[in-house]
Amino acid sequence: MVEHKKLIIIGAGPAGLTAAIYAARAELQPLCIEGYKAGGQLMLTSEVENFPGFEKGINGPDLISVMRKQAERFGTEFLTEDVSGVDFSQRPFKVKTYEKEFTADSVIISTGADAKWLGLDSEQALLGRGVTSCATCDGAFFKDKEVVVIGGGDSAMEEALFLTKFASKVTIIHRRDELRASKIMGQRAKDHPKINFVLNSEVVEVQNVEEKKVTGAKIKNKETGEESVIPCEGFFLAIGHKPNTELFKDTGLEVDKKGYLLTKGKSSNTNMEGVFACGDVQDHTYRQAITAAGSGCTAALDAERFLSEHE
Ligand code: NAP
Repeated sequence: MVEHKKLIIIGAGPAGLTAAIYAARAELQPLCIEGYKAGGQLMLTSEVENFPGFEKGINGPDLISVMRKQAERFGTEFLTEDVSGVDFSQRPFKVKTYEKEFTADSVIISTGADAKWLGLDSEQALLGRGVTSCATCDGAFFKDKEVVVIGGGDSAMEEALFLTKFASKVTIIHRRDELRASKIMGQRAKDHPKINFVLNSEVVEVQNVEEKKVTGAKIKNKETGEESVIPCEGFFLAIGHKPNTELFKDTGLEVDKKGYLLTKGKSSNTNMEGVFACGDVQDHTYRQAITAAGSGCTAALDAERFLSEHE
């Protein structure tokens, strides 16, 4: 049986959940299809200290849990399944999971983005125990400690420069001998007394899985094959992000050259009327829980206005 909804929200990180809170309070009875990876990147974060309202900080998963309960309280319905297909070619839109089928008058996309990882077993085992992909979120935990940043792009330079506020030493490890970063960012990092570079090197292991904390990065020089260990307590990945837009590839939704959904001006409107986007799936610049939440609010208000105009 095909069920009809006024509004379907796809994804349940801070953007989707904020959209759900606002839409539910506006009595749109939203269905939030949260997916099996519900919660997004906050589920991989330990302490969140910069989300306003939590003076003493809050765990990433706890923050998601509170937001989800808040959305439920006003009548958001949750479905813990992955969306398997969408059809936005005509209204009502069609949204399918592997088990169910829906039609919807409007859709908010908040599927987020994922940090790229090296794919090492040791890296995944130490995730949240010194391995992280967000300097803004976790930098302050490494006061007077040595850290490494992996990557040679602008993000790596920016994260390394940010980390100099806390860390005693920052080592940028890059796989080539030339940076991808813009000249100005690269030079800024090179000029900083706390930052040093290890080029032409790839990480082969994050140490130390047995101790359940990061103690060093084992690297291999790509020219000589020589292996060595850089002692560190923080291991920051900055090798790029990937927006979760695979599902929308053939829908006609416009994306930029990196695959992020395009929204119009300050709104959450995509190029398809009635389809809105919020959070990291359309923002590769700020990528914060609070900016994602703010854009989720925008999307719910845009959807509400759209629905009232098309009733
Ligand atoms: P990026 O420019 O794609 O750089 C990614 C870096 O990670 C590259 O140096 C790449 O190495 C390396 N890398 C990728 N996969 C790797 C792997 N598996 N193992 C080891 N290294 C790997 O990504 P980004 O730095 O996140 O920047 C994304 C965009 O945002 C860029 O357009 C950037 O200019 C922009 N941005 C701008 C600012 C700013 O202006 N303030 C700040 C941040 C980001 P290779 O070089 O060998 O490919």
